Amino acid sequence: MAKATGTRTTATGDAKRTRSAAETEKIRVALVERRDELQDEYDTSISELTELQRDRFADSAGDDQADTGTKTFEREQEITLANNLLERITQVERAIDRLSAGNYGWCERCGNAIPVERLAAFPSATLCVSCKQLEERR
Ligand SMILES: [Zn+2]
Repeated sequence: MAKATGTRTTATGDAKRTRSAAETEKIRVALVERRDELQDEYDTSISELTELQRDRFADSAGDDQADTGTKTFEREQEITLANNLLERITQVERAIDRLSAGNYGWCERCGNAIPVERLAAFPSATLCVSCKQLEERR
C-alpha cells in the first residue's frame, strides 16, 4: 500500500510566533499598568458622576432652565466618558487573557510581532505599524 510521504514537519514553521518569556512579561506589565490607569480614571469619572447626580437632586429646585441644561449636558458627557473608559478596560483585560493564551501581540496581516511600546499604547492593536500604515493608505 502506498503511503503519503509529505508529512515531514518543518522546524522553522512557527519561528515567527515565539516571543521570549521576558518580552511576554514586559507586555503583561505594560497592559496591567494601562488597566490600572484606566481603572483610576474610571473611578474618578464615577465619583464625579455621583457628585453631579447629587447636585441634581440637592439644588435643582433653585435652578433655572439653563442651569439644568448645563448640568444635564455635563452628566451626559461624564456618562459617555465613563462608558468609554469601561470599554477600554475591557479591551485591555481581553488583551491580558489573550496574552496568557499566547495569541496576543501578533500582526494579523503579516504575522510579525507587534512592538511592546505599540501594544502598551494601543492594547487593542491587531496590526504592526507598517501594516497599519498600508491599511490607512488604501
Ligand atoms: Zn504587519
